[in-house]
Amino acid sequence: MTTEHATVAEEEYLQTLFWLQEAKLPMTGANVARAMRLSAPTVHEMIGRLERDGYITRSSDKAISFTQSGLDHAEGVVRRHRLIERFLTDVLGIPWDEVHEEAERLEHAMSPVLEARMLAAIGDAKTCPHGHPIVGGARLEGVPLADVQEGAKVTILRFENEAEDLLHYLKEIGIEPGMKGSLTLSTPEEVTITAEGGAEISVTFSVAETVSVIADPSPPSRTALPEQLVLARERYGR
Ligand SMILES: [Zn+2]
Ligand SMILES: [Zn+2]
Repeated sequence: MTTEHATVAEEEYLQTLFWLQEAKLPMTGANVARAMRLSAPTVHEMIGRLERDGYITRSSDKAISFTQSGLDHAEGVVRRHRLIERFLTDVLGIPWDEVHEEAERLEHAMSPVLEARMLAAIGDAKTCPHGHPIVGGARLEGVPLADVQEGAKVTILRFENEAEDLLHYLKEIGIEPGMKGSLTLSTPEEVTITAEGGAEISVTFSVAETVSVIADPSPPSRTALPEQLVLARERYGR
């Protein structure tokens, strides 16, 4: 049976499952635990609740699938999250490294009327300020910046991990989606991009693993690790 209204905690889990599916990672409890930095028993309990409430099904090998209701809820909360972030940056002028946590709070309490008005207010924008498509299915593949060879041209596509401490770091060093440049140095410790305007920007190699780019020439695509996706805070554990 499907309950009409998912709880805030359920919506957080559905959102994480959607991120996994979008990144083509297996939807399993273990990957949810990694992405949300929660313990296995905590995740196990909530996965059971999502199943009882009709949002997911589980196969014998523990793979999770959305039911239609679960997918609708997951898409809805992800869409509202990204829309709110874009509204906060473009309409309210809040820096893009400060909007993720605000969106985490607001995404659960938004009426369809407000959503429609916000959508009208953001004009032509199609992604959140970190590069994630607001409407599902519009996601470009991209490759991790860490995989790109020296000399390649790059366009920053998306930050796969929206943990705010990471976003503060990226903002501080001056990298953002849409930026173009070339990769001038790649070592096991750091990756340096020379932006079109001439600015040199270095990111640590582990952070470069979480930045998706379009590259020419491009390395082969590969799937991100769950730890490199969105990180939620412990407050959703219970
Ligand atoms: Zn976010
Ligand atoms: Zn975002």
